[in-house]
Amino acid sequence: GIYTIGYPAYFPDAYSIQNDYISNKLDLSIIIPVYNEEENILELYEKLCCVLSVLDKRYEIIFVDDGSTDNTFETIKSIQDSNIRILRFQRNYGKAAALSCGFNKSRGEYVITMDGDLQDDPKEIPRFLEKLKEFDMVSGWKVKRQDPLSKTLPSKCFNKLTRFITGVKINDFNCGYKGYRREVVKNINLYGEFHRYIPALAHWKGYTVGEIEVEHHPRIHGKSKYGAERLFKGFLDLITVTFLMLYKKRPLHMFGGIGMLLGFSGIIISLYLFSLWVTGTRIGDRPLLMLGILLTVIGAQFISLGLIGELITNSRNNDDYIIKFDSHELENGR
Ligand code: UDP
Ligand code: MG
Repeated sequence: GIYTIGYPAYFPDAYSIQNDYISNKLDLSIIIPVYNEEENILELYEKLCCVLSVLDKRYEIIFVDDGSTDNTFETIKSIQDSNIRILRFQRNYGKAAALSCGFNKSRGEYVITMDGDLQDDPKEIPRFLEKLKEFDMVSGWKVKRQDPLSKTLPSKCFNKLTRFITGVKINDFNCGYKGYRREVVKNINLYGEFHRYIPALAHWKGYTVGEIEVEHHPRIHGKSKYGAERLFKGFLDLITVTFLMLYKKRPLHMFGGIGMLLGFSGIIISLYLFSLWVTGTRIGDRPLLMLGILLTVIGAQFISLGLIGELITNSRNNDDYIIKFDSHELENGR
């Protein structure tokens, strides 16, 4: 024939489909959660463009408007740039939800998250990409954090504690500036204040976690959205993360272990008292009776709690393993 494969101009439909396919796969997604940052948007966008335009990568900038009540949304919308994607929340759900939504919608081979308040400098993006050749995820380290002492001091303690508990050897878990390979983004499940534990969760799933020092600027426009209450919430989440890392797989093995220990001592005490009762001794006024009953009942409670935990874990089907290769994957067309 007249038409030869390889000259897509003759096949306008096929050409546009192919084009669409290519344009759907991007090299880089920048995710920026914003909550009432109207004065920062345009300057941030310009700075980002300076950096991104020389990278020679297909990228998208995803702004997740976390229920702003100022003109944040309108400001982003006013920017004429097809590389921008705006996701607007119904209300303020928090940074973890914003990041999670950005993760789910992102199309880049690499993903970078950063704060929208100009405290994170876009100039670090190439350094993140460079380091991502080496690690599955890279966390920023605000070596000279430009925030009040009321924030930096608790943060220091928090970082030391998290580092100790999770065993992830990085210095700054809090930093919102982070880079990921696609894989990691796909497999991290965020809620609550969990965005601060992403390095721990990634490490736990078997990904390598690196760290680079990043410059940090003071906040010029707008207010910080976080106060002391987030420290408290964060601490509760640290307990959850610790629990997740240690026992998510087998809750029964933790609660059951404690339960059996308590229950067993309860039964021993009861048997002892029973033997006294059989031989005709009065046991009704002995405090030991109370202890025996308590331990037996509490032990049974713990074992039941572990069982329920085990059932929930098994029925939720959010596997905590990642299949690196599956010979059946292609056959099943997945
Ligand atoms: N942010 C958000 N939702 C919130 C709180 C904050 O999307 O509920 C965004 C905020 O707009 C900023 C980033 O998260 O882009 C970091 O917030 P902030 O600067 O207040 O935190 P800090 O730097 O003081 O720790
Ligand atoms: Mg900030």
